[in-house]
Amino acid sequence: MQPNPESAAALELALLPVLQDNYVVLLRRGGLAAVVDPAVAEPVIAWLEQRKLTLVAVLQTHHHSDHIGGTPALLRRWPAAEVVASGADRERIPFQTKGVADGDRFSLLGRQVEVLEVPGHTRSHIAFHLPADLGEGAELFCGDTLFAGGCGRLFEGTAAQMHQSLQRLTAFAPTTRVWCAHEYTESNLRWAASEAPQDAAIAARLAVVRQQRARGEVTIPSTVALERATNLFVRSADGAELARLRESKNSYRG
Ligand code: ZN
Ligand code: FE
Repeated sequence: MQPNPESAAALELALLPVLQDNYVVLLRRGGLAAVVDPAVAEPVIAWLEQRKLTLVAVLQTHHHSDHIGGTPALLRRWPAAEVVASGADRERIPFQTKGVADGDRFSLLGRQVEVLEVPGHTRSHIAFHLPADLGEGAELFCGDTLFAGGCGRLFEGTAAQMHQSLQRLTAFAPTTRVWCAHEYTESNLRWAASEAPQDAAIAARLAVVRQQRARGEVTIPSTVALERATNLFVRSADGAELARLRESKNSYRG
Protein backbone atom coordinates (compact mmCIF):
# COMPACT_ATOMS: atom_id res chain seq x y z
CA MET A 1 0.00 0.00 0.00
CA GLN A 2 1.33 3.42 -0.93
CA PRO A 3 1.68 5.79 2.01
CA ASN A 4 -0.58 8.79 1.94
CA PRO A 5 1.55 11.74 0.72
CA GLU A 6 0.31 13.80 3.67
CA SER A 7 1.59 11.16 6.09
CA ALA A 8 5.19 12.08 5.28
CA ALA A 9 4.66 14.61 8.05
CA ALA A 10 3.69 13.44 11.53
CA LEU A 11 0.22 14.06 12.88
CA GLU A 12 0.41 16.70 15.61
CA LEU A 13 -2.29 17.43 18.17
CA ALA A 14 -2.66 20.59 20.21
CA LEU A 15 -5.13 21.94 22.78
CA LEU A 16 -6.48 25.44 22.70
CA PRO A 17 -8.12 26.61 25.95
CA VAL A 18 -11.14 28.85 25.23
CA LEU A 19 -14.04 30.37 27.20
CA GLN A 20 -13.93 29.52 30.88
CA ASP A 21 -12.82 25.89 30.78
CA ASN A 22 -13.35 24.55 27.24
CA TYR A 23 -10.69 22.88 25.12
CA VAL A 24 -10.62 22.86 21.34
CA VAL A 25 -8.45 20.07 19.92
CA LEU A 26 -6.47 20.96 16.81
CA LEU A 27 -4.94 18.32 14.54
CA ARG A 28 -2.44 19.09 11.83
CA ARG A 29 -0.42 17.14 9.31
CA GLY A 30 1.74 19.13 6.94
CA GLY A 31 -0.26 22.11 5.78
CA LEU A 32 -3.68 20.67 6.59
CA ALA A 33 -5.65 20.87 9.82
CA ALA A 34 -8.82 19.67 11.52
CA VAL A 35 -10.50 20.83 14.69
CA VAL A 36 -12.74 19.18 17.29
CA ASP A 37 -15.58 21.11 18.97
CA PRO A 38 -14.64 24.73 18.22
CA ALA A 39 -16.56 26.63 20.90
CA VAL A 40 -15.42 29.91 19.37
CA ALA A 41 -13.77 30.81 16.06
CA GLU A 42 -11.38 33.69 16.60
CA PRO A 43 -8.54 32.00 18.52
CA VAL A 44 -8.87 28.93 16.26
CA ILE A 45 -8.56 31.06 13.11
CA ALA A 46 -5.56 32.87 14.62
CA TRP A 47 -3.86 29.59 15.55
CA LEU A 48 -4.37 28.17 12.05
CA GLU A 49 -3.36 31.34 10.23
CA GLN A 50 -0.17 31.76 12.27
CA ARG A 51 0.88 28.34 11.01
CA LYS A 52 -0.46 28.89 7.46
CA LEU A 53 -2.74 25.86 7.73
CA THR A 54 -5.83 25.04 5.68
CA LEU A 55 -8.78 23.78 7.71
CA VAL A 56 -10.19 20.65 6.05
CA ALA A 57 -12.57 19.33 8.71
CA VAL A 58 -14.51 20.17 11.85
CA LEU A 59 -15.57 17.26 14.08
CA GLN A 60 -18.57 17.88 16.35
CA THR A 61 -19.31 15.62 19.31
CA HIS A 62 -22.66 17.22 20.17
CA HIS A 63 -24.85 20.26 19.62
CA HIS A 64 -24.13 22.40 22.71
CA SER A 65 -23.08 25.95 21.88
CA ASP A 66 -19.76 25.61 23.74
CA HIS A 67 -18.87 22.93 21.14
CA ILE A 68 -20.33 24.23 17.87
CA GLY A 69 -20.33 28.00 18.45
CA GLY A 70 -17.27 28.73 16.32
CA THR A 71 -18.10 26.51 13.37
CA PRO A 72 -20.15 28.92 11.20
CA ALA A 73 -17.33 31.49 11.26
CA LEU A 74 -14.72 28.82 10.51
CA LEU A 75 -16.79 27.80 7.48
CA ARG A 76 -16.89 31.39 6.26
CA ARG A 77 -13.06 31.43 6.41
CA TRP A 78 -12.60 27.88 4.97
CA PRO A 79 -15.81 27.15 3.00
CA ALA A 80 -14.55 23.78 1.71
CA ALA A 81 -14.09 22.32 5.21
CA GLU A 82 -16.22 19.27 6.02
CA VAL A 83 -18.34 19.34 9.17
CA VAL A 84 -18.72 15.84 10.59
CA ALA A 85 -21.58 15.49 13.08
CA SER A 86 -24.37 13.16 14.16
CA GLY A 87 -26.73 12.72 11.23
CA ALA A 88 -29.48 12.17 13.82
CA ASP A 89 -28.96 15.73 15.07
CA ARG A 90 -29.19 17.61 11.79
CA GLU A 91 -31.72 20.08 13.20
CA ARG A 92 -29.43 21.16 16.01
CA ILE A 93 -26.21 21.04 13.94
CA PRO A 94 -27.62 22.34 10.64
CA PHE A 95 -24.28 23.21 9.02
CA GLN A 96 -23.05 19.61 9.05
CA THR A 97 -21.84 18.33 5.66
CA LYS A 98 -21.19 14.71 6.65
CA GLY A 99 -23.84 13.17 8.89
CA VAL A 100 -22.47 10.07 10.61
CA ALA A 101 -23.78 7.24 12.78
CA ASP A 102 -22.39 4.52 15.00
CA GLY A 103 -19.81 2.35 13.24
CA ASP A 104 -19.15 4.79 10.39
CA ARG A 105 -15.53 5.20 9.33
CA PHE A 106 -13.83 7.94 7.38
CA SER A 107 -10.29 9.13 6.80
CA LEU A 108 -8.89 12.32 8.23
CA LEU A 109 -5.37 13.69 7.74
CA GLY A 110 -4.05 10.25 6.83
CA ARG A 111 -5.74 8.43 9.73
CA GLN A 112 -8.85 6.29 9.99
CA VAL A 113 -11.61 7.62 12.24
CA GLU A 114 -14.35 5.45 13.78
CA VAL A 115 -17.61 6.97 14.99
CA LEU A 116 -19.26 5.80 18.23
CA GLU A 117 -22.68 6.87 19.42
CA VAL A 118 -22.32 7.55 23.15
CA PRO A 119 -25.65 8.87 24.47
CA GLY A 120 -26.07 10.12 28.03
CA HIS A 121 -25.02 13.79 28.10
CA THR A 122 -27.17 14.39 25.00
CA ARG A 123 -29.22 11.87 23.08
CA SER A 124 -27.07 12.04 19.94
CA HIS A 125 -23.61 12.61 21.42
CA ILE A 126 -20.89 10.94 19.35
CA ALA A 127 -17.19 10.26 19.89
CA PHE A 128 -14.34 9.82 17.42
CA HIS A 129 -11.70 7.09 17.79
CA LEU A 130 -8.48 7.08 15.77
CA PRO A 131 -6.95 3.60 16.07
CA ALA A 132 -3.15 3.40 16.30
CA ASP A 133 -1.63 3.32 12.84
CA LEU A 134 1.87 3.25 11.31
CA GLY A 135 3.62 4.19 14.54
CA GLU A 136 1.09 6.85 15.55
CA GLY A 137 -0.82 6.23 18.77
CA ALA A 138 -4.57 5.88 19.29
CA GLU A 139 -6.62 8.99 20.06
CA LEU A 140 -10.15 9.43 21.39
CA PHE A 141 -12.21 12.62 21.15
CA CYS A 142 -15.07 12.18 23.58
CA GLY A 143 -16.59 15.66 24.09
CA ASP A 144 -18.69 15.86 27.25
CA THR A 145 -19.26 12.12 27.76
CA LEU A 146 -16.06 10.91 29.42
CA PHE A 147 -14.12 13.52 31.39
CA ALA A 148 -10.79 13.06 33.12
CA GLY A 149 -11.96 11.66 36.45
CA GLY A 150 -15.63 12.24 35.66
CA CYS A 151 -18.47 12.15 33.15
CA GLY A 152 -20.92 14.61 31.62
CA ARG A 153 -24.20 15.58 33.21
CA LEU A 154 -27.24 13.56 32.10
CA PHE A 155 -29.21 16.18 30.17
CA GLU A 156 -30.93 13.96 27.62
CA GLY A 157 -29.96 10.42 28.50
CA THR A 158 -30.22 7.85 31.27
CA ALA A 159 -27.60 6.66 33.70
CA ALA A 160 -27.76 3.25 32.02
CA GLN A 161 -26.94 4.83 28.65
CA MET A 162 -24.05 6.80 30.15
CA HIS A 163 -22.76 3.64 31.82
CA GLN A 164 -22.75 1.80 28.51
CA SER A 165 -21.19 4.76 26.70
CA LEU A 166 -18.34 4.98 29.22
CA GLN A 167 -17.72 1.25 29.00
CA ARG A 168 -17.42 1.49 25.21
CA LEU A 169 -15.08 4.48 25.39
CA THR A 170 -12.77 2.77 27.87
CA ALA A 171 -12.68 -0.56 26.04
CA PHE A 172 -10.00 0.83 23.72
CA ALA A 173 -6.29 0.15 24.15
CA PRO A 174 -5.00 1.35 27.56
CA THR A 175 -2.53 3.78 25.97
CA THR A 176 -5.25 5.52 23.92
CA ARG A 177 -5.10 9.24 24.66
CA VAL A 178 -8.40 10.68 25.90
CA TRP A 179 -9.17 14.23 24.74
CA CYS A 180 -12.22 15.58 26.56
CA ALA A 181 -13.66 19.04 26.03
CA HIS A 182 -13.36 20.65 29.48
CA GLU A 183 -10.79 21.22 32.23
CA TYR A 184 -12.80 19.67 35.07
CA THR A 185 -10.15 17.21 36.23
CA GLU A 186 -9.23 18.70 39.60
CA SER A 187 -12.81 19.18 40.80
CA ASN A 188 -13.74 15.71 39.50
CA LEU A 189 -10.90 14.11 41.46
CA ARG A 190 -11.56 16.16 44.61
CA TRP A 191 -15.10 14.81 44.53
CA ALA A 192 -13.85 11.27 43.79
CA ALA A 193 -11.43 11.43 46.74
CA SER A 194 -14.30 12.48 49.02
CA GLU A 195 -16.41 9.62 47.68
CA ALA A 196 -13.62 7.02 47.96
CA PRO A 197 -11.25 8.34 50.65
CA GLN A 198 -9.28 5.08 50.90
CA ASP A 199 -8.56 4.85 47.17
CA ALA A 200 -4.79 5.20 46.65
CA ALA A 201 -4.96 5.53 42.85
CA ILE A 202 -7.42 8.43 43.07
CA ALA A 203 -5.40 10.14 45.82
CA ALA A 204 -2.19 9.82 43.79
CA ARG A 205 -3.79 11.23 40.66
CA LEU A 206 -5.37 14.10 42.59
CA ALA A 207 -1.93 15.03 43.97
CA VAL A 208 -0.45 15.13 40.45
CA VAL A 209 -3.38 17.12 39.04
CA ARG A 210 -3.25 19.66 41.90
CA GLN A 211 0.42 20.33 41.08
CA GLN A 212 -0.33 20.63 37.37
CA ARG A 213 -3.12 23.12 37.99
CA ALA A 214 -1.03 25.11 40.47
CA ARG A 215 1.56 25.50 37.69
CA GLY A 216 -1.19 26.53 35.25
CA GLU A 217 -0.80 23.36 33.16
CA VAL A 218 -3.55 21.49 31.35
CA THR A 219 -4.46 17.99 32.56
CA ILE A 220 -5.62 16.75 29.15
CA PRO A 221 -5.09 14.36 27.45
CA SER A 222 -5.76 11.57 29.87
CA THR A 223 -5.48 7.91 28.89
CA VAL A 224 -7.89 4.99 28.85
CA ALA A 225 -5.70 3.23 31.45
CA LEU A 226 -5.85 6.21 33.83
CA GLU A 227 -9.63 6.52 33.49
CA ARG A 228 -10.15 2.80 34.11
CA ALA A 229 -8.01 3.09 37.25
CA THR A 230 -9.30 6.34 38.77
CA ASN A 231 -12.67 7.32 37.26
CA LEU A 232 -15.51 6.23 39.58
CA PHE A 233 -18.08 6.52 36.78
CA VAL A 234 -16.03 4.21 34.56
CA ARG A 235 -15.52 1.83 37.50
CA SER A 236 -19.25 1.78 38.39
CA ALA A 237 -20.88 -1.63 38.05
CA ASP A 238 -24.10 -0.54 36.35
CA GLY A 239 -26.48 2.30 35.62
CA ALA A 240 -27.86 2.31 39.17
CA GLU A 241 -24.42 2.85 40.70
CA LEU A 242 -23.60 5.49 38.11
CA ALA A 243 -26.88 7.28 38.88
CA ARG A 244 -26.00 7.40 42.58
CA LEU A 245 -22.51 8.74 41.81
CA ARG A 246 -23.91 11.33 39.41
CA GLU A 247 -26.30 12.57 42.12
CA SER A 248 -23.44 12.78 44.59
CA LYS A 249 -21.29 14.76 42.13
CA ASN A 250 -24.18 17.09 41.23
CA SER A 251 -24.57 18.08 44.86
CA TYR A 252 -20.83 18.16 45.72
CA ARG A 253 -19.57 21.53 46.89
CA GLY A 254 -15.98 21.21 47.90
ZN1 ZN B 1 -22.15 19.65 26.47
FE1 FE C 1 -19.45 21.33 27.04
